[in-house]
Amino acid sequence: LRMVSAAPVGNEPVSDEELRPHALDGFIGQPLLKAQLQLFLDAARKRDVPPDHILLAGPPGLGKTTLAMIVANELGVPIRVTSGPAIQHAGDLASILSSLDSGEVLFIDEIHRLPRAAEELLYIAMEDFRVDVMVGKGPGATSIPLTLPRFTVIGATTREGMLPSPLRARFGFTAHLDFYPHEELEKLIERSAGVLGVRLENGSAYEMAVRSRGTPRIANRLLRRVRDWAIVHDLDAVNPDDVKDALSLYQIDAEGLDRLDIAVLNAVVRQFNGGPVGLNTLSAMVGEESETVETVCEPYLVREGFLVRTPKGRVATEKAWSHLGLVPKEDVSK
Ligand code: ATP
Repeated sequence: LRMVSAAPVGNEPVSDEELRPHALDGFIGQPLLKAQLQLFLDAARKRDVPPDHILLAGPPGLGKTTLAMIVANELGVPIRVTSGPAIQHAGDLASILSSLDSGEVLFIDEIHRLPRAAEELLYIAMEDFRVDVMVGKGPGATSIPLTLPRFTVIGATTREGMLPSPLRARFGFTAHLDFYPHEELEKLIERSAGVLGVRLENGSAYEMAVRSRGTPRIANRLLRRVRDWAIVHDLDAVNPDDVKDALSLYQIDAEGLDRLDIAVLNAVVRQFNGGPVGLNTLSAMVGEESETVETVCEPYLVREGFLVRTPKGRVATEKAWSHLGLVPKEDVSK
């Protein structure tokens, strides 16, 4: 279990709930996206029709589920939640669709993982508000068209590129969520601290924000571990040094890198003199699945400028060397 993983761990889906804002106002950051969404919702309300379908795209833990719930709340309609992998057959989706009430929001998480047949059924339903229900089996089977009330699909995906274009084209609005800058995460942590009843002194939220990898879910998780620390040490209020002590216990350093990230950097820098080194070799060195290294560590290390990907493999940057307290090797190409 990684503290700095953007995916929910353990019983976090439950604890995510308590920290979820319920109105667009309470949603921190992403100003452009909020303005777009506000206009989109206001227009639908004025026209008194359910809004067009919405696609939310972006890395895990940035607030896609939260936004979907906010949209339903703002519209004052119920929300039905499902996910691509939960729907195994087109029939599963047909029965959800045929039980929707007028105006209801259908949230489909990981929509890029819907089975093919369900995808086709979905885009017809999104376009024509109709689903063809198969009755009977074999040669005698007939399909009966069923008209659906108007509803709004909100799809969430971490892999927008994997959505087939006919499905993507059915969305009237696509919102792209980006990693949050430190100032926004600071505000988010202060808000969450208020909800959890943790008193933070000046600068404490910042120390958590810089370790949160641009991700609200990680920020909230670090805050909960800091709260544990405060409870155990009987602190009335948490100061920045408390934050550093609490989080270094979990081996999270000042840049939000954990043990595995540091192991990766160490392997590239110390064993391979800065690289290039191939992904499989690197993963073997740190004793991790190459998929974990590729999808969990590397994107952040690359985004923050510790590693670069080259055709020959991964190369450590100057920032990586100095982060490990080393002087970068002479660049022989110069
Ligand atoms: P996944 O795709 O992994 O399900 P997600 O993008 O749907 O992730 P959420 O479950 O919506 O992420 O958010 C994770 C946690 O972070 C929740 O507790 C949520 O309330 C909080 N959160 C996310 N974004 C914001 C935000 N902009 N303002 C306040 N809280 C937020």
